[in-house]
Amino acid sequence: MSKKRVAVLGAGIFGLANAWAASKRGFEVTVFEKDPFAIGASVRNFGMIWPIGQRVGETYRLALESRRLWLDLCREAGIWIRECGSIHLAHRDDEFAVLEEFCGQSEELAVDCKLLSRQEVVAKSPAANLGGLLGGMWSPNECCVNPRKVIASLPSWLERTYGVRFHFGTSIQSIQSESDTVELRSSSHLKHSFDQVIVCAGADIERLFPEAMNAPAKACKLQMLKTVPQPKTFSVGPHLAGGLTLRHYRNFECCPSLPALQNRISQETPELDAYGVHVMIAQNDDGEVVLGDSHEYGASITPFDKTYVDELILRELRKIVQLPDWSIRERWHGVYVKHPDQPVVLSEPQPSVCVFAATGGTGMTLSMALADQFWRERA
Ligand SMILES: Cc1cc2nc3c(=O)[nH]c(=O)nc-3n(C[C@H](O)[C@H](O)[C@H](O)COP(=O)(O)OP(=O)(O)OC[C@H]3O[C@@H](n4cnc5c(N)ncnc54)[C@H](O)[C@@H]3O)c2cc1C
Repeated sequence: MSKKRVAVLGAGIFGLANAWAASKRGFEVTVFEKDPFAIGASVRNFGMIWPIGQRVGETYRLALESRRLWLDLCREAGIWIRECGSIHLAHRDDEFAVLEEFCGQSEELAVDCKLLSRQEVVAKSPAANLGGLLGGMWSPNECCVNPRKVIASLPSWLERTYGVRFHFGTSIQSIQSESDTVELRSSSHLKHSFDQVIVCAGADIERLFPEAMNAPAKACKLQMLKTVPQPKTFSVGPHLAGGLTLRHYRNFECCPSLPALQNRISQETPELDAYGVHVMIAQNDDGEVVLGDSHEYGASITPFDKTYVDELILRELRKIVQLPDWSIRERWHGVYVKHPDQPVVLSEPQPSVCVFAATGGTGMTLSMALADQFWRERA
């Protein structure tokens, strides 16, 4: 009996998660990637597997499932992953109030987190800036991966282990559903026939299948930086985020003090709202610290990065964290598509053609569970 033939378009994290989930269930998988290697959002992110930033309820549950799959995958494929947890630091009373309110509801929300005193924060991370530190919120579930290494090494592992075929440097230019197959035409003028096509084109989805988003989606550009490796004797420990982050993730909307915090930030530092700056850090296996980020939307996006925005990110980070070496090794930006209210879009624009689009800063976190759930239902 011939195996069901599956084509995956895109070798970013969604494409690779689908290739893994389908091939381990016996499907015959071919991945097409338009560039010689994937250079989209999946190599430009923090590498945070970040359940605590997901909406409470179903999305948080999915994120925990994804975390479990990430740990399995990295163990099987011999890829570095660190179970580091995370701390949201509070340096202002209104930040501490939001954290206190969120932790106070944690049981009811079914979110695993707890409030930390200043001393408990310091015991978990030497990178917390002690000046004005009031405490923080600990979540044990976050993990850290090195996104560039994951995206570079998974294709050869999938090829060796599950026989997945990769065609790099091959852009898919048309996708046409026929009666019971799907025909793809590639940049090499070849026609390929499959039983099922999975489209994981990242921000390019707007060009390929704009109707798949089912809503007016906007591109979002994020500026990021990375330090040189820190001294070997120093470890950031958990991922760290600051009070600015509390106004970025919608799960904190259940906290009565949030509007006052948002208001104070808009009054004191309107430039942070103008560029959507909130700050987070993650330390990778090379000791480098990834720093970010900003959010610019739609028509205000240009290809050129703004030094001013980098300075805002660094200014705000220095208020909440201390690093032995702040020398910047790299700067870059990434783009994702933002949906007005869904963290992920899964749709079927044509028969046997499914689109997976992460529509915010959550794709690394949710990719594994979404792909696994999809293929579990089809196996
Ligand atoms: C700066 C930044 C920081 C982020 N931080 C985090 C984080 O820490 N944690 C988290 O959970 N999420 C984070 N995210 C979100 C996460 O990175 C994305 O949601 C995720 O990487 C999207 O993966 P993808 O595979 O859908 O897209 P991509 O990684 O963009 O991959 C899409 C691929 O499809 C290919 N492609 C497109 N069109 C074609 C075609 N016609 N033919 C063949 N190939 C094609 C592209 O070349 C590309 O390689 C961040 C995003 C950004 C931008």
